[in-house]
Amino acid sequence: MSKLRFSAIEQANNRPTIDVKAPGKISDFYGENVFGLSEMQALLAPDVFKQVKKSIDQGLKVDEITADAVASAAKAWAMSKGATHFTHWFQPLTGTTAEKHDTFFDYLSGLERFKGSALVQQEPDASSFPNGGIRSTFEARGYTAWDPSSPMFIYGVTLCIPTIFVSYTGEALDNKAPLLKAVEAVDKAATKVCQLFDRKVTRVKPSLGCEQEYFVVDKALYNSRPDLVMSGRTVFGHNPARGQQLDDHYFGSIPPRIYDFMKDFEIEALKLGIPVSTRHNEVAPSQFEVAPVFEDINVATDHNQLLMDTMEKVAEQHSLRVLFHEKPFAGLNGTGKHNNWSLITNTGVNLFQPSSSARENLVFLTFFVNTIKAVYEYADLLRASIASAGNDHRLGANEAPPAIMSVFIGSQLTSVLDELEKNGNIKVEKGDNMYMKLGIDKIPEIILDNTDRNRTSPFAFTGNKFEFRAVGGSANTASPMTILNLIVAEQLSQFYGEVERDIKKGTDKKLAIVNVLRKYIKDSKKVRFEGDGYSEDWVKEAEKRGLENVKDTPRALDAYLTKKARKTFKEHTVLSDIELEARNEISWESYIMKIQIESRVMGDLILNHIIPTAINYQNKLIQNANGLKGLGIDNKEVLNNIKKITDYIDTLNKGVHNMTEERKRINKLEDTREKAIAYCDDVKGKYFDDIRYAVDKLELLIDDEDWPLVKYREMLFLR
Ligand code: ADP
Ligand code: MG
Repeated sequence: MSKLRFSAIEQANNRPTIDVKAPGKISDFYGENVFGLSEMQALLAPDVFKQVKKSIDQGLKVDEITADAVASAAKAWAMSKGATHFTHWFQPLTGTTAEKHDTFFDYLSGLERFKGSALVQQEPDASSFPNGGIRSTFEARGYTAWDPSSPMFIYGVTLCIPTIFVSYTGEALDNKAPLLKAVEAVDKAATKVCQLFDRKVTRVKPSLGCEQEYFVVDKALYNSRPDLVMSGRTVFGHNPARGQQLDDHYFGSIPPRIYDFMKDFEIEALKLGIPVSTRHNEVAPSQFEVAPVFEDINVATDHNQLLMDTMEKVAEQHSLRVLFHEKPFAGLNGTGKHNNWSLITNTGVNLFQPSSSARENLVFLTFFVNTIKAVYEYADLLRASIASAGNDHRLGANEAPPAIMSVFIGSQLTSVLDELEKNGNIKVEKGDNMYMKLGIDKIPEIILDNTDRNRTSPFAFTGNKFEFRAVGGSANTASPMTILNLIVAEQLSQFYGEVERDIKKGTDKKLAIVNVLRKYIKDSKKVRFEGDGYSEDWVKEAEKRGLENVKDTPRALDAYLTKKARKTFKEHTVLSDIELEARNEISWESYIMKIQIESRVMGDLILNHIIPTAINYQNKLIQNANGLKGLGIDNKEVLNNIKKITDYIDTLNKGVHNMTEERKRINKLEDTREKAIAYCDDVKGKYFDDIRYAVDKLELLIDDEDWPLVKYREMLFLR
């Protein structure tokens, strides 16, 4: 094994450089693999194009004749670019994307064909995708349905058609279907509220920009670590002497091998119409970030999935592996995916953009305060939306946003809200400057950039958008974004109802709005936190405030099944009871599997690699101790080390044995939730840390030449 370690290190150190050259200016190739609006316009008859565009803009169904025309144009376009196949591309609940390729070639006629019906709907054999018991295998049929709001694209030689995936009885089996419904819900609710101010607003769309963090390691080093290969994270590994203490990696110059990789995957991403725009080093060694410009939330979600996939494929060509796991290396920064979110009207107004006009600021405040209130009311759901085995390692650890949901808004907006709250019950009379009287005439147009001060907040306002930072690096953004849009939709509906009631009672509209806002500011004050989210003090303070701090996934998921949650999901027709229950089943199941795999990998590595290595080294020391004794030299230190190693071996033998017995007991449990909690508390909670501690100590004690696993310092300082 140590042979494997050293040969991996040698391979990693001797990689040839790959010179990456862009095929011209970005504008020459941006979106060249996308069947976008301009491609459609060029290939479709004007009336057909108008029909498609209307369907896309208004989220309407595409009729058969239009679908046939689009399919035929898409086929011609795709074939002109060398595509031979097409696939419905969807996002099942496995967390990745799925595709089943069909050829355009029709063997009967000897021609390439692609009908509208094949574009609109397909029936992939869905029995092997998780469904949480919605379909038993004998009725294992679901279908994928075209989502015209996200453009088709070519990946390899295949035309990919973004689709949703639903069961025959109509239940969503994927991540995208509920997102689309939540987007519709927030559109409806936000548009209604906008119309209190501006009748011209007929549509509100959420937008999303994802900052994607990732680690990169050499492929050979990666392959020599069974834990990375099997579970996506290192279950052992002592901290390197030089970790991220120096903070010299952050924004530092990018290592050449990584730079080539970045350029390469960015070119591929740009061809796919993914508007990647920034790249830089992150805080931890070998950690980086890529961020595209924000887009419509549905497209941004598809693009993030596609980007991760592209990065993995391109990494392979550079003999690298890219890691999206939330915590691949203990003691170093975890990996997140900041979800920058805002609401934008069809009139082009970002509803979270403060303005110099007091009138517009009332609009801003309305959406701003309602979002804070939504986070307050549904903190548990928001927490659940980012729950995963991987993210549990990250949330609440020292260098990641805590599991306590709170909102950071910065000192300027805090004083605006404080003032508004204070100025209760003012009488506004004819001729008064109401905005001034209410103290909302003076919101600074440009909010100072808070980013550096609020890194510790899971949900921060950053000038003209909210940034949900607790989202895990490997997550599909559809899940947190479904929840965020849903809870804001619900909150806005309630707001509208309250304002309307007040107006009916004869209150002036603006005053009614301000009154409700003031109430919300008071009600949701507890969720606002400006301090250090990583501190122990905050944990105590949050507890005092009655904010929840659910540290593990199995329990966080309960939030989906509360009465309040079920009602909200149903009211906005985002997910039904059956769907919610099925999804939780799948999430608990997936949690169990992840912990089970980690536990097994630990056991295997310890029994097959760590303990044998420790015994070998122990024997060497015993020889040494005997030799020293024979020469009459003091061997106390050696005996001491032998004793330590013996103790650690003992800890490991017992730990692995007991952990395995515990797994056997838990595997017999019937209830999935109970089982997930048992894995969390009785396997991970009871054993992982102690076992790891012993292994990491052995790593320090045992001769470097003998140690079987590639060490952190060898993996993390790629040049
Ligand atoms: P940071 O200071 O957090 O690095 P940036 O300004 O670089 O923030 O933006 C981060 C991400 O936020 C980018 O993807 C950017 O496109 C996105 N973003 C900017 N404005 C908006 C908005 N109005 N809605 C959604 N995302 C946005
Ligand atoms: Mg950010």
